[in-house]
Amino acid sequence: MKNILLIHTGGTFGMMPAEPTKILAPADIQHLILKYLPETENIARIDFEVAFNIDSANIQIHHWRTLAGMILQNYKKYDGFVIIHGTDSMVYTASALSFMLQGLAKPVILTGSQRPLAVIRSDARSNLVNSIELATYNIPEVSIYFDKQLFRGNRAIKISSTSYEAFASPNFPVLAEVGLDITLAKNILPARKKLLYSDRFDENILCIRFFPGLLPAHLEAIAGSPVKGVVIEALGLGNLSIYEKSLIPWIENMSRAGKIIIITSQSPYGTVNFNLYECGQLITAAGGLSAGDMTSAASIIKLMFLLGQFPDNPQRVKTYYQKSLAGELTESDAGS
Ligand code: ASP
Repeated sequence: MKNILLIHTGGTFGMMPAEPTKILAPADIQHLILKYLPETENIARIDFEVAFNIDSANIQIHHWRTLAGMILQNYKKYDGFVIIHGTDSMVYTASALSFMLQGLAKPVILTGSQRPLAVIRSDARSNLVNSIELATYNIPEVSIYFDKQLFRGNRAIKISSTSYEAFASPNFPVLAEVGLDITLAKNILPARKKLLYSDRFDENILCIRFFPGLLPAHLEAIAGSPVKGVVIEALGLGNLSIYEKSLIPWIENMSRAGKIIIITSQSPYGTVNFNLYECGQLITAAGGLSAGDMTSAASIIKLMFLLGQFPDNPQRVKTYYQKSLAGELTESDAGS
């Protein structure tokens, strides 16, 4: 029987309807799991740890350090890791862990639920039981399990806050489907012998959503600020205004000041492609970089991570940004 470490971090999963207000509050989760999911003991030998117990909107970089540190410390002792996490920021934590723990040889699966475990029609039970079973398989990457599907964590997006089908992976096939049988995909990352660990991030970045009418004047102050990089959520293939209220001079200014500009897309499906329109060519000439087919969350976390690795070397940040570090990017789409 395999050994699995189950780590709790909070979220809806372990909340109880607290009388009389009915506000969901963190409950005694280990007690709940044993009470509601006795069958988990037939799947694997499970140890349980509480890393922290918070609504995932409150996750900070130090929480990722705690989590990655727990996995690192227990790496030899366990065959797989399952993390119970709030759904709201799950894709950010999954992206962060995928960069912090590169070259995994064991599964790290995040899961959660739309309804608390102790509530009728909860999805918590099937999500956790299936995650624990999947953690006994050879899936050596950071993934998210939800509603019968296992996604690469840094490829996933949260698509619904009301449906059980809360996540999707628009630009990458699912890693596993859970039905009568468990079907594993062929595109799972290969296990590596050497785990590369880093917990350095630089949070001096911004993410800005482009919209028609955005005044470049409002962005000017960023060039003289401590901000080291900006992810711009642009339109379609990576377009933004280049005629009236053109953002190109601002991108040039930022690049000249040694700051990184990343262009991602508001369209979750597809990739940024700078080769098709005049805008893409102007952005490239101004020093902007394509996020290819990465999700917005992965684009943001990757920028924080790489700025943490190469604090004084924007050129290296740019070079590594266009490489796939943990399967987050289709490399043929990078730099396009
Ligand atoms: N607000 C909750 C959280 O992300 C939602 C959830 O768990 O699904 O912590």
